Amino acid sequence: MTVQTADEPVPSMGRVKSTVSFAAMIDDDDDDGNGSSTEEEENGVADDGTGRNRMFSMSMDRPITRIPTRAEMKTLTHKAKRPAVDIEFHDLTYSVDTTAGERAILKGVNGFFRSGHLTAIMGPSGAGKSSLMNILAGYVRSNIKGQILTNGHPRNMHLFKKLSSYIMQEDLLQPRLTVLESLRYAARLKIGEELSDEDKNKAVDEVLELLGVSVCQNTFVEKLSGGQRKRLSVALELVNNPPVIFLDEPTTGLDIVAIKQCVTLLVELAKQGRTVVCTIHQPSSSLFHMFDHVYMLARGSCIYNGTPRQLVPFLAQIGHVCKPTHNPADFVFEVLDNDTIVDLNREIQNGKIILCDDINDMETKSPTSKLCRNETLALLPPVFDNLETADKKCSGHSSSFCTQFTILLDRRTKQIARNSVGLYISFFHHAISALLLGSIYCGIGVDGGRPFENFKFCISVIVFFIYTHVMGPVLTFPTEIKLLRREYFNHWYGLKSYYLALTITSLPSMFLFGGLFLGIVYFMTSQPLEIIRISQFVAVGLFTGYISEGLGILIGSSVDNATGAILTPALLAPMLALAVYGMGYGQVIEPIMESLMATSFLRYALVAISASLYGNGRAEMSCLKDDLYCHYKDPELLLRDLGMSHRSITVQFIGLAIFGLVFRVGAYYVIKIRLLNKPLKNLPLYFKKLIRR
Ligand code: ADP
Repeated sequence: MTVQTADEPVPSMGRVKSTVSFAAMIDDDDDDGNGSSTEEEENGVADDGTGRNRMFSMSMDRPITRIPTRAEMKTLTHKAKRPAVDIEFHDLTYSVDTTAGERAILKGVNGFFRSGHLTAIMGPSGAGKSSLMNILAGYVRSNIKGQILTNGHPRNMHLFKKLSSYIMQEDLLQPRLTVLESLRYAARLKIGEELSDEDKNKAVDEVLELLGVSVCQNTFVEKLSGGQRKRLSVALELVNNPPVIFLDEPTTGLDIVAIKQCVTLLVELAKQGRTVVCTIHQPSSSLFHMFDHVYMLARGSCIYNGTPRQLVPFLAQIGHVCKPTHNPADFVFEVLDNDTIVDLNREIQNGKIILCDDINDMETKSPTSKLCRNETLALLPPVFDNLETADKKCSGHSSSFCTQFTILLDRRTKQIARNSVGLYISFFHHAISALLLGSIYCGIGVDGGRPFENFKFCISVIVFFIYTHVMGPVLTFPTEIKLLRREYFNHWYGLKSYYLALTITSLPSMFLFGGLFLGIVYFMTSQPLEIIRISQFVAVGLFTGYISEGLGILIGSSVDNATGAILTPALLAPMLALAVYGMGYGQVIEPIMESLMATSFLRYALVAISASLYGNGRAEMSCLKDDLYCHYKDPELLLRDLGMSHRSITVQFIGLAIFGLVFRVGAYYVIKIRLLNKPLKNLPLYFKKLIRR
């Protein structure tokens, strides 16, 4: 076993001579000749001309990799250039607020995850694996103490996010796109101006080939198998060639063949120089030995940090002898009790010690059980300079706001257009509802004897638009948020461009189907055939639908489906009650009720739609039935008794616009908070803390 010391230079990344073509920074078409195979390369030793690079310990069953030079990093054709990144952390502590007080999840752990290595974070359930991964990936950023360094320098989060990808456990993929389309959109969003469109497509082809998904490139993502979905999830994050890849439980839910393929792929990606870190529950013995580095946690403390090969001798040192027939990955968890955790943690010094295979032993092909120690990781030299100097261009998104917006608009439009079932349902829903409503209130619009019937028709139109447009986002947005989080966190695009595309894409279908509905009901109910009234009527209906969609997004982004399904009617019912208050005695509505009614956007919609039909100096109506007294033949009288006289339609539109703005802006900020991983459910907890102070 070997220990890295300060005077031993750290290799950053390497590549096997015959490795797959999508190499991170090392390319076969090396224009300065450094990419050619040399004797040193064969032996796993390389020199970058600075004398810094020397071989580090390797596992025996893995090919020896060589270290790329800076010159090699500049010899890419259609791959985005990225620096290699080593990650280290010191005395990392993470705690969470619970109702019982503060709880420590990670307890001062240390570690060093190297580029070119596949690192597995292992441990029993609840050990803190995901927490550690989330912190290292930058997904969790609060309640953390300790130091995280990249290439020996304090991590610049902005740059790091650009250089790393986090593949979450759930394979959330954009629906109604083929594999190739998904990858092309990802490439267009993630690579930006760095590469030409042709090179982006080549990069996509390479990724397809590398991940073995080219056979299903024209398959829609919904039809992929579990293993293929996982590979596509990885592929989507690979198109911009990130040097750091985090994967949370990548093997969960896969069968044994798919698990093997998945880990083999990760080994391959690491070989190409990337820092690949994954959490894994309990790998089989053969899988366990495929990792370059294993980092084990138990109850928030490090209990092992080193190569898989050194685990058995390490356990033997503290009295736990693993039989050769036993899977060491299982054995270590079988022997874990309080005392063993303490012993292992003490021996490994909470991750300050790295156990590695000895270089000399590797040459003689015999494993060693000799423990070598590195007292302080802080002494390790950086692989490259500070990332900031390595890639200054890394700040911001790859593509501009306009490009992101155009691509997202294109993607959403395609997805909506392909949702034929949804479109058919929407069409029939609007057409049938319109015919039904038109039949119920047929010819009512010109009858001065039944104005309240017409008012009920107005309420029905408003309620139709509210429920049609509010429930969709309430039910779909919780899933959309998860998808958005994956893409947003991995720096595909900014929230503003996404939100603008979201805000616009629903408009065509809303206009088309909403227009169809309003057209049918307007003519069937014989409303006045005046162009200005028709336009106002249509505008109020569509505007109400659009505002309701905003409210739906606000609710859907704040709570889950089940809560949203209860919360939405609970919010709308009182709004509806307030909207129709005063019907028949509008003149005597109390001031307090007037103020309450102003808080209901339905009221504005209802006043506006009524004003569109009866306001603006509409001439006296005739009573169709032979009534002796036609009380409401004067439309102004009707508006007065509804409490709507002298209400300007412009003011109602302004009121509606304010509500629309509040819902949309509110939804934007809720989404932003959710994406920053600040749970809304913790708000009461923060509030409690505030009161205690
Ligand atoms: P693992 O991935 O090893 O199963 P996790 O990192 O997910 O473990 O969680 C470790 C422990 O921390 C678990 O007991 C979990 O319940 C707790 N935990 C993690 N995050 C939070 C949180 N935000 N609030 C309360 N407890 C948490």
